Amino acid sequence: KAKAIGRATFAFYTSELTDQAYQRLRIASELRYALENNQLRVFFQPVYSLTKERIVGCEALVRWLHPERGMISPADFIPIAEDSGLITNIDSWVLNTSCQQMKAWLDAGLDLKFVAVNVSSRLFSRIDFTEKVVEALAESQLDPSYLELEITESAVMDDVERADSLLNKLCDMNVRLALDDFGTGYSSLNRLKSLPVHKLKIDQSFVRNLPSDGSDAAIVRAIIALGFSMQLEIQAEGIETLEQAEFLRQSNCILAQGYFFGRPMPAAEFEQLIS
Ligand code: C2E
Ligand code: MG
Ligand code: MG
Ligand code: MG
Repeated sequence: KAKAIGRATFAFYTSELTDQAYQRLRIASELRYALENNQLRVFFQPVYSLTKERIVGCEALVRWLHPERGMISPADFIPIAEDSGLITNIDSWVLNTSCQQMKAWLDAGLDLKFVAVNVSSRLFSRIDFTEKVVEALAESQLDPSYLELEITESAVMDDVERADSLLNKLCDMNVRLALDDFGTGYSSLNRLKSLPVHKLKIDQSFVRNLPSDGSDAAIVRAIIALGFSMQLEIQAEGIETLEQAEFLRQSNCILAQGYFFGRPMPAAEFEQLIS
């Protein structure tokens, strides 16, 4: 009898797995269609300088405007895009769109220092990655110093030598580099020592329970001190309250990003907010 139950459970389990695999396949093909049929949007979230007390830049974040299901968050489709390989097409499209938008804003006289674009590990590991960056800059005519590329710890841990030479090449081109979600990955301080990046982004998981959580407060202060002594810019993510913003200001964090300063929004809205 146990065997029968076991088999039944197993059968149920596999059919559920198949369902899931089928779902992902369906979403992947819908996503491919979405990319080719103008259903993706780039939203921009303000980055605020706590010392200058104004917006100095923004992060480009992709959205899927699904005709039936409405706005879909990247958290729900990026993993599928990564598995299917479609992520590199999406990232390239976001990169091109963001460079063009930034160029238009600068031409219109907006005082912005950077637009940050997320780079998936998949794109980072591609042999033609720098070419895609060069292309996006050439096509948009954007000065490279206004482009910031956000990479993750996992992307730079795989093949250390390759990663460093790639990042050095981008540095030489005057592109800015940021390490996203800092503190959540597997990179070590030893790795950070030799890593050619300009900025560390403190992950929102360390910010969420500020200022009351003593451990988080200690970690955030330590990252800020580390950034100061290594001459790296520090940007905190996920600030939702005045108390969090005050804590960060008092801890000498310069850059801040979060719903408290503004949610990710369409380009036209971001433009209104700035001017
Ligand atoms: P991320 O790069 O760490 O981006 C920050 C995420 O935190 C964004 O979520 C943003 O909307 C959210 N966020 C900002 N402020 C707050 C806040 O105060 N509270 C809370 N709870 N959340 C806040 P989003 O847009 O859903 O993106 C999620 C992740 O998806 C991003 O995390 C990034 O890893 C990925 N992603 C987004 N766009 C792209 C893209 O174009 N390419 C790639 N490869 N990944 C992307
Ligand atoms: Mg990011
Ligand atoms: Mg992040
Ligand atoms: Mg994240």
